[in-house]
Amino acid sequence: MAWALAGCAGPRPASTQAVFTELAAGTYLHRGLLEDWGPANLGDVADTGLVIGSRCAAVIDTGGTLATGRKLAAAVRRLTDKPVCWVIATHAHPDHVLGHQAFVEAAVVDGQPPPVIVGHARLPAALAVRGPYYLNALKRDFGPALAEQTALLPPTLSVQATLELDLGGRVLELKAWPTAHTDADLSVFDRASGTLFVGDLLFVDHTPVIDGRLKGWLAAMDDMQTWPVKIAVPGHGPPSPDWPGVLAPQRRYLEGLRSDVRAAIKEGLTLRQAVERIAPDRADWQLLDVFHARNVTAAYAELEWDE
Ligand SMILES: [Zn+2]
Repeated sequence: MAWALAGCAGPRPASTQAVFTELAAGTYLHRGLLEDWGPANLGDVADTGLVIGSRCAAVIDTGGTLATGRKLAAAVRRLTDKPVCWVIATHAHPDHVLGHQAFVEAAVVDGQPPPVIVGHARLPAALAVRGPYYLNALKRDFGPALAEQTALLPPTLSVQATLELDLGGRVLELKAWPTAHTDADLSVFDRASGTLFVGDLLFVDHTPVIDGRLKGWLAAMDDMQTWPVKIAVPGHGPPSPDWPGVLAPQRRYLEGLRSDVRAAIKEGLTLRQAVERIAPDRADWQLLDVFHARNVTAAYAELEWDE
């Protein structure tokens, strides 16, 4: 994949610039592609948020490689000359955190203080356990040049339960969730615009991925669905003004998985048989072949000793 690496190292043509669209005054979204994390897309597969206050800006997730992070940092700089005070990680998955370092580099170039990296209180442990695997995958799939430049930056400000960040004239409300999509999920609510950056607690069109607790995830959705959200930004997929309606397809998928896996366990099916048998409606979800079998496996392990 040398061509992809050539693209990371040097100046890139305009067509490869990252694009942010304005969702509301001062609130922006860069859409990642609905693809699996890989060199063909430079890891640009997760959604990235940007909120600009009167004093400074916050970036929510930073793309899946340093190369994508640099494109995002350049795009942020085109929209504002205010410093990025905070880089907020919604969870530990590499497609959301491997671009952090680009924002530290950009601050140095601009002579601004480096951003404080914010995450769930369990994020440092999650990154310590998984980081070496992510960096190995980066080296294997994207090549050693990019991997060698990439540092996995843990948060220096951690959120135990909730935290407010004041950007100047607008406040972000952060919430650290009990184990759901992962064991370190953090959501970000921009009070001024009513935008909820849900991270991977919400997938739209992209098959949901269980790397935490299915039951915890459903409970988190029960909790957040009463919030006064005007625009929901998922971790993957398009934004939506339909709240809590946008949660419904994911709820159907997760509840369907829960009942199918429970039935399989009750019937005495092995994990392998359950994986072969349990299939959701293919029309609803992209990347089903990449993630669905893994979800059945995770749900089976969680529900096996339930009753
Ligand atoms: Zn994720």
